[in-house]
Amino acid sequence: LCSKEMCPDNTIVKITESVRFGAVGVAVIAGPCSVESKSQIRETAFLVKESGACMLRGGAYKPRTSPYSFQGLGVKGLAYLKEAGEATGLPIVSEIVSASYLDAMNEYVDMFQIGARNMQNFELLKEVASLGRPVLLKRGMAATIEEWLMAAEYLMAHGTKDIVLCERGIRTFETYTRNTLDITAIPAIKTLTHLPILVDPSHATGLRDQVPAVSLAAVAAGADGLIIEVHPHPENALSDGAQSLYPQQFEKLMRDIEILAPLV
Ligand code: PEP
Ligand code: MN
Repeated sequence: LCSKEMCPDNTIVKITESVRFGAVGVAVIAGPCSVESKSQIRETAFLVKESGACMLRGGAYKPRTSPYSFQGLGVKGLAYLKEAGEATGLPIVSEIVSASYLDAMNEYVDMFQIGARNMQNFELLKEVASLGRPVLLKRGMAATIEEWLMAAEYLMAHGTKDIVLCERGIRTFETYTRNTLDITAIPAIKTLTHLPILVDPSHATGLRDQVPAVSLAAVAAGADGLIIEVHPHPENALSDGAQSLYPQQFEKLMRDIEILAPLV
């Protein structure tokens, strides 16, 4: 179902009338790693909207490596995210980590994010697919492109039509960066499937100062968009502060992206 051979026409994933992935232009999703408070997400939403983002991100259920790290605000976080989205007119995407949150999340989000850690959680994929809502499917950190596309196939086989893939870096022997961006994944995905692809330069690098160059490289390589972590005060972030852009960095990056391609 997801192969280019079976369906040569590229899929355009439409979230709202103006927010489309896979049509013309670069669609930029931005926001904090985690929703931390009502004011934090609202402030971030206005900042990223002002710079030209077309969609707002923010985790309410966080899949943290340590059980002692901030785990997210849960439903309260979703409510704050939705409020911020409505205040700015930005549709919202947030990660689902368990099928038990399906009904709660369905009331809030415009798009479900399946994170790297759950890419091959096939039961979760089937449950999310049963809703038929748009899905952002991140590549597992140790998944081959073939395995990633099979995860997309699970979604399609169980009811999802609107899938946006997201390359977010894979595990290699390199330790300078948090992950290693597989830039070839972009043209490979364009060859193999009709689904649009985004790049997440934040989780790919783990280092905010590496995010702009990697973002521009992804756009130059043909990515349909980017998902970028931005925080009004990264030094105080409850998760992923080191990779979160300062608002001025994000503003500058958006102007640089526009030199390469129009923004959605
Ligand atoms: C995220 O986007 O917040 C996230 C946890 O990303 P990943 O699943 O790619 O690690
Ligand atoms: Mn993060």
